[in-house]
Amino acid sequence: DLVAHNASLSDEPFRVNNAFRLDPDPRKVNLSIGVFRSDQAAPWPLPVVQKAEQIIHQEQDPYRHEYKGIIGDEGFLSAARDLAFGFDKTTHQQDANRVVSVQAISGTGANHIGAMLIARRFRPINVWLPDPTWSNHYTIWDFVGVRCRAYPYYDEVAQSMNLEAMVGTLSTQACKGDAIVLQACAHNPTGTDPTRDEWKKIALTCRQLGLIVLFDSAYQGFATGNVDDDAWAVRYFFGQKLDICVAQSFSKNFGLYGQRVGVLHVALAEPSAEDAAAILSELTHFIRAEYSTAPGWGSTIVKRVLKDPELRSQWIQDLGTMSRRIRSMREALFRKLVELQTPGSWEHLLTQVGMFSYTGLGPRQVSVMRRQHHIYMLQSGRISLSGLVSEQLTSMQVQSSNVSYVASCIDNVIRD
Ligand code: PLP
Repeated sequence: DLVAHNASLSDEPFRVNNAFRLDPDPRKVNLSIGVFRSDQAAPWPLPVVQKAEQIIHQEQDPYRHEYKGIIGDEGFLSAARDLAFGFDKTTHQQDANRVVSVQAISGTGANHIGAMLIARRFRPINVWLPDPTWSNHYTIWDFVGVRCRAYPYYDEVAQSMNLEAMVGTLSTQACKGDAIVLQACAHNPTGTDPTRDEWKKIALTCRQLGLIVLFDSAYQGFATGNVDDDAWAVRYFFGQKLDICVAQSFSKNFGLYGQRVGVLHVALAEPSAEDAAAILSELTHFIRAEYSTAPGWGSTIVKRVLKDPELRSQWIQDLGTMSRRIRSMREALFRKLVELQTPGSWEHLLTQVGMFSYTGLGPRQVSVMRRQHHIYMLQSGRISLSGLVSEQLTSMQVQSSNVSYVASCIDNVIRD
């Protein structure tokens, strides 16, 4: 039932986004899909990406459209691995050797081949998914034939992480060797991440129960604005020598959504040379069967940026531009609701992190927002904050502000 329910929602962002596009009402606002939008409510190709593209074009490398090899571009893979695990010149080779990395069709593809590997190699009885989560997790794990179970993650009333219930459920119901999906940062859809102390407790629970962990890392740089802080949990689990996989996406933090750039990293606690070779061979086998070799353009851009100190520092600035804009929309919406004295507490808009806010609006209110006010959000009450444009920007004649409108409609449905 859980799978059917979530599968029916799995293309919800795309469905809602489409309904928005077809809506002729001039007041319409799109808060549905998880993509960054500029102050003009338009796509924002990162300046650093445009610069890297120009450089690569100028080089006219005759090999640029050749096959990349089954596991992908080695230079890209090592740069992606260093970003996820924080490796640098001081890292012991032994640690680096623990990680097997292959290119994937973005975060979704990395989740998929990670799930496939875990299903075939570790044979878990259940996979534990956060409640709520990105609904595609259900589709992905259902496809590989592992039973999906939900662990409590978010307390709707307290509007915060529910660690006690999470640990309690896992401790009493998980089977030894089960799999668990953890979102590395900027949890979708709640915008609520564990604190470092909470991560430590989660790691301990995973160890005690012998769980294999799949970190879904789709938003590195979007939670705190700092790529190292956002990778803290992954690095802690790695340092604690837990068995982990990391499904890493470059869709959001490079704005390369359609390029499908991602990596699956597999880091077992103490893999023998045979384990590493067997994992690589199994992953190679899946990839060969599914798409043979990874797409090349997006990964070439990411490699270039991550390996060039100047481009890399511009990327960090671009990430800052995106995360600052999202944060300022949180504040703008919060201020308007407080001004309107909308019933309830709205502090969670400020304390949540990343691209989304879990507003607390229920399905009926979401439906009124859409039917009466032409504001599009997900049924769970999740909004994508970069769909908002604030007043300060309107004075610059960029596009009409919608924060006041959205706040007054929220006020309206709450009081209804
Ligand atoms: N994981 C989570 C939690 C997401 O929110 C998303 C995208 O919305 C993804 C993974 C995968 O995105 P992509 O396949 O575009 O990298």
